[in-house]
Amino acid sequence: LNVPDCPIIPFIEGDGIGVDITPPMKRVVDAAVEKAYGGKRSISWMEVYAGEKSLGVYGENIWLPEETMQAVKDYVISIKGPLTTPVGGGIRSLNVTLRQELDLYVCLRPVQYFNGVPSPVKHPEKTDMVIFRENTEDIYAGIEWAAGTAEVKKVVDFLSDMGVRKKIRFPESSAIGIKPVSVDGSKRLIRKAIQYAIDNGRKSLTIVHKGNIMKFTEGGFKSWGYDLAKEEFGAVEIDGGPWCKLENGLIIKDCIADAFLQEILLHPEDHDVVATLNLNGDYVSDALAAQVGGIGIAPGANLSDTIAMFEATHGTAPKIAGKDIANPSSLILSAEMMLRHMGWTEAADLVLKGVGKAIESKRVTYDFSSQMEGATQVSCSQFGEEIVANM
Ligand code: NAD
Repeated sequence: LNVPDCPIIPFIEGDGIGVDITPPMKRVVDAAVEKAYGGKRSISWMEVYAGEKSLGVYGENIWLPEETMQAVKDYVISIKGPLTTPVGGGIRSLNVTLRQELDLYVCLRPVQYFNGVPSPVKHPEKTDMVIFRENTEDIYAGIEWAAGTAEVKKVVDFLSDMGVRKKIRFPESSAIGIKPVSVDGSKRLIRKAIQYAIDNGRKSLTIVHKGNIMKFTEGGFKSWGYDLAKEEFGAVEIDGGPWCKLENGLIIKDCIADAFLQEILLHPEDHDVVATLNLNGDYVSDALAAQVGGIGIAPGANLSDTIAMFEATHGTAPKIAGKDIANPSSLILSAEMMLRHMGWTEAADLVLKGVGKAIESKRVTYDFSSQMEGATQVSCSQFGEEIVANM
């Protein structure tokens, strides 16, 4: 990436705890950049609006203004806080809209453990994975019809004509959802995951799927992944296949989604980079986040071939919003991913070090302090200062 020394980075503050966690995120990033490059590099933050804040600026019902979409496209790299999903009125989730309209087909979720973070498992330090979740297809494409509608009747009639209803139970009272999984959509996601694994010297890529039941969609995803590894990365089959290996030693393997949820609890050290479809990816990434300390510390990014939008993976946490008590780590670690994506590795390393040491010092936000022996509770903004002091 060709990033100028003083790039403009649009940010969406976000709703709910967005007002609490965004200022410490900017504070930490600015301090890390200053410390790493001594004034030779800096970020010009540009606020753009979405969600509830946008209603106040742009007027009623403008949840996601065109100017915001344009800024995210033009400046290529951006960061956002959580957004409230508007209820009723036929408005789609703002996050889904952003992903679909900007074709942000990769949801990238690294899962790593910071020493001292409370965890429900005995050896959380064994978990170090990076999830590539397909973001635009699957059952999340939003193609579904309510029970009793004319559309459902048409589909039921069509399937009756094809003889399908003789073989399976499929009453007219069904609601119907469609699960599109394309060859192109699957391959572009898996291509990005393999390239990431190569670039970052990771040991394996696990394709997680439910192909034993959904042979053409989930099973297709698995086989297209193996095809791609062989066609584009020169992988050769091992142990009689379908597992295969690249020349640099990277192993491409697969695992059925339900077994994988056991695997991450029992043998997390056996898995490294993971590629999966939208629904499996949603479950797997939250389960893994819980394993290493919960969504308060889970960063993420949504990527297309050109655009990168970094975001905390949690929601707006309305009950604790505006109280300066939320854990800002997830957004700060999303910013750390952003700095790495920009090639500003030294600043990214400082952020990582600051977060790790701040947690070890046990001066942490309420979600951690309540479960850590001998810990002192600090506010959201104070925790940002702890990170800066520990860089
Ligand atoms: P949530 O993630 O907001 O909250 C779940 C639980 O986690 C709550 O107990 C909350 O207090 C806690 N929590 C979340 N972030 C925290 C933090 N940084 N520090 C400490 N505790 C934290 O999920 P929800 O309640 O289901 O959703 C609330 C709203 O957020 C909804 O409108 C939902 O649609 C939206 N949402 C947005 C995004 C996004 O913008 N990416 C993601 C998920 C949900």
